[in-house]
Amino acid sequence: MKPPSRNEEILDEDRILEVLRQVKGPQKTGNIVDLGLVKDLSVSGGRVVFSIEVPEDLAPKLEGMRAGAEKIVSVLPGADKVLVALTAQRVAGAKPAAPTAMPSPTGATPAKRLQSAKPAGQDIAGVRHIVAVASGKGGVGKSTTTVNLALALASNGLKVGVLDADIYGPSIPTLLGESGKPEATANKQMRPKTAHGIKFISMGLMVDADAALIWRGPMVASALNQMLRDVQWGELDVLILDLPPGTGDVQLTLAQKVPLSGAIVVSTPQDLALIDARRAISMFDKTGIPMLGLIENMSHFVCNTCGERHEIFGNGGTRSEADKLAVPFLGEVPLSLALRQASDAGTPQVISEPDSAPAKAYRSIAEQLLPSLKLSRAQLARPAPRIIIES
Ligand code: ADP
Repeated sequence: MKPPSRNEEILDEDRILEVLRQVKGPQKTGNIVDLGLVKDLSVSGGRVVFSIEVPEDLAPKLEGMRAGAEKIVSVLPGADKVLVALTAQRVAGAKPAAPTAMPSPTGATPAKRLQSAKPAGQDIAGVRHIVAVASGKGGVGKSTTTVNLALALASNGLKVGVLDADIYGPSIPTLLGESGKPEATANKQMRPKTAHGIKFISMGLMVDADAALIWRGPMVASALNQMLRDVQWGELDVLILDLPPGTGDVQLTLAQKVPLSGAIVVSTPQDLALIDARRAISMFDKTGIPMLGLIENMSHFVCNTCGERHEIFGNGGTRSEADKLAVPFLGEVPLSLALRQASDAGTPQVISEPDSAPAKAYRSIAEQLLPSLKLSRAQLARPAPRIIIES
């Protein structure tokens, strides 16, 4: 068999590291490979992901180096998509890089600052509002809420998009019943998929879930940045971000990088979920993102046979929590077998069974959101803050 020529070579880590040796280190000496700065390199099919670890104080000046590294790998044969993130390494004894850190509520010394490869909070052309849907923990129905809410908003005549930022468990393609890789546009952007009249993009369209599971924070942040900015969203009234569950680095990075108009937190009525939901609310509060409201999912169960309403998890927990926290309570969505079945089938109830109780609940929630979304950008949006995470 004829050995492969240079151009036919399989893209592997050695080949990538070889070309990355052309990229000079942060101090313009040596190269990023031999200086040991290339981390978490993974190659899967044509997708290459890695991070470059740089001193925290230099990070803001090294976007050019990051972009250079991305470019040099992008031109390798077989490299379809290359994601490179800068991760910051605090130099012992060094001061934080910028004086705009959020004060620590406990007075503790800030331990870690998230770095943004692009200017924080840059607007997305054509997108009027970006709203995050978050939850304190997984499995509470955040993605189901995202999809049905998006469709309910669209039924009010709004142009709506969904970005599945739940990179560890992307379920939006299933919920919308649409799969297949997104097409590339002439200017090398991704064209979002369209399903039931809304646009969406999801890592679930591009990589299999197992590959996403091994991604670490900086890679996820970089991938999300691309899904946000390298997608041809066109004109949108609202882009809904289905955040990964919880309040970790990824969520904080998003809060830092994305010019959010506001956030919605989904919770189930159980106490534990409420504790987690409180954490999510507090995260948005600390990052200065307006809380648009709390939604109680799987609130109660209406028996198909007897028609009786059963408060399986107790009642009113989320509403009273919202009152206590002075956060708007947007509504409750019942636990419903038909909702789950419609979700699994990719035909969300808001469109497939518009007269069902959950569909009505979602429409009512959407109506409550409309006044906030009609507010001008200047009234709603705030500059994205820089964030410090306490150790
Ligand atoms: P999350 O995004 O919070 O992880 P999902 O939206 O994926 O949660 O929902 C988790 C599971 O619960 C899915 O199987 C979904 O169909 C189901 N589910 C969500 N909301 C409801 C509801 N109100 N009634 C019944 N099943 C629901």
